[in-house]
Amino acid sequence: MSDAPRSAELFARAQRVIPGGVNSPVRAFRAVGGTPRFMVSGQGPYLTDADGHTYVDLVASWGPMIHGHAHPQIVAAVQQAATSGLSFGTPTIGEIELAEELIGKLATAAQAHGTTSPLEEVRLVNSGTEATMSAVRLAKGVTGRRKIVKFAGCYHGHVDALLASAGSGVITFATPDTPGVTSAQAAETIVVPYNDLAAVEAAFAADGPDIAAVITEAAAGNMGAIAPKPGFNAGLREITERHGALLIMDEVMTGFRVSAAGWYGLDPVAADLFTFGKVMSGGLPAAAFGGRREIMASLSPAGPVYQAGTLSGNPVAVAAGLASLRLATPEVYVTLDATARRIGALATQALAEAGVAHRVQYAGNLFSVFFTDQDVTDFAGAQAAETFRYGPFFHAMLNAGVYLPPSAFEAWFVGAAHDDRALEIIAAALPAAARAAAA
Ligand code: PLP
Repeated sequence: MSDAPRSAELFARAQRVIPGGVNSPVRAFRAVGGTPRFMVSGQGPYLTDADGHTYVDLVASWGPMIHGHAHPQIVAAVQQAATSGLSFGTPTIGEIELAEELIGKLATAAQAHGTTSPLEEVRLVNSGTEATMSAVRLAKGVTGRRKIVKFAGCYHGHVDALLASAGSGVITFATPDTPGVTSAQAAETIVVPYNDLAAVEAAFAADGPDIAAVITEAAAGNMGAIAPKPGFNAGLREITERHGALLIMDEVMTGFRVSAAGWYGLDPVAADLFTFGKVMSGGLPAAAFGGRREIMASLSPAGPVYQAGTLSGNPVAVAAGLASLRLATPEVYVTLDATARRIGALATQALAEAGVAHRVQYAGNLFSVFFTDQDVTDFAGAQAAETFRYGPFFHAMLNAGVYLPPSAFEAWFVGAAHDDRALEIIAAALPAAARAAAA
């Protein structure tokens, strides 16, 4: 299956008209080498490429597809919505229903934990990036402060102020990660190591009155899967509250995937603002941010902080999201968790037999493999792993019909459609991939 002539031809054509041939960088396979596969269809746990090869998909469109590809009920909901009109630029009933669904899921989890939900109002947007960008603006607007604390290795979309990473030292004023983000923008972002409350305390000791918010991935999934240490998110709540700053819990990746109420369902920390995307829109472009009424009331038109969108709350995307969330029964989450554990155990077995030092780490049902014999708790640990082993591992899996994320720093995503046959394909692929990683 290493032979993908049609994908190679399409990639060459794409590179003539699209920068790097892709519309989002990681799709280009730069971290693993080789030809990105151009997919033409998806069904359940499988993807089929332009050369007719079929793969078990462990990327799930980077998270959204918890029910697998082309689920008939979601497709029917989309078709029905499309038949009624693609976009109106007016309020619609579906937007209320989707907002109620998101709020209801967190409320149910809060009640189960004997507390009240911090999610009272949501605003729909078109991508996770828009959600985090808007949440950061709202936090700055509400507090009248200008700085944000983020964690090295956490990704919150391509928002200017959040595209900054740490230099050396415990607390570093960020330098831009990319040309186009000015040093003035990056200077308003303080980057500290993940899972390090002492570093957060130090940031507030140095800059407290200027810090509008701390933003964190509810569990880190963008440097591989790294769960917050017990009490880490609660510690962020305590520190931010003490300093009059807001806490933004980015659940774009974890939301409605790791439980019916996302990471909040597992660890109910009452952040001031939450961001959601991916699963909540069933694979179409929609996302959301929300929080307590008193904070959301500052958002335009109710309040002074401006935020808007021509296609926000698009009826087709909303229909896909509603169908996807309504299909997400408790059994779906039991399946997702069990499937992640089964695949993780298979990976461990194959890598151990091949003598490759590794850690399979979980954050709920997000998981990934680090080639190291140390537990990984932060970005420095993820970077210290032997990532050179991932390319050969990835390509051996691809050749055997398993589509993994084309980067060592990404989580693996399962869907409820991954059945025994899909798992058998993965199990059959792993031993040779483990040997390739060992080489
Ligand atoms: N926040 C997190 C935690 C993410 O994982 C991502 C994307 O992977 C984003 C934000 C950005 O979302 P989008 O790619 O929809 O803009």
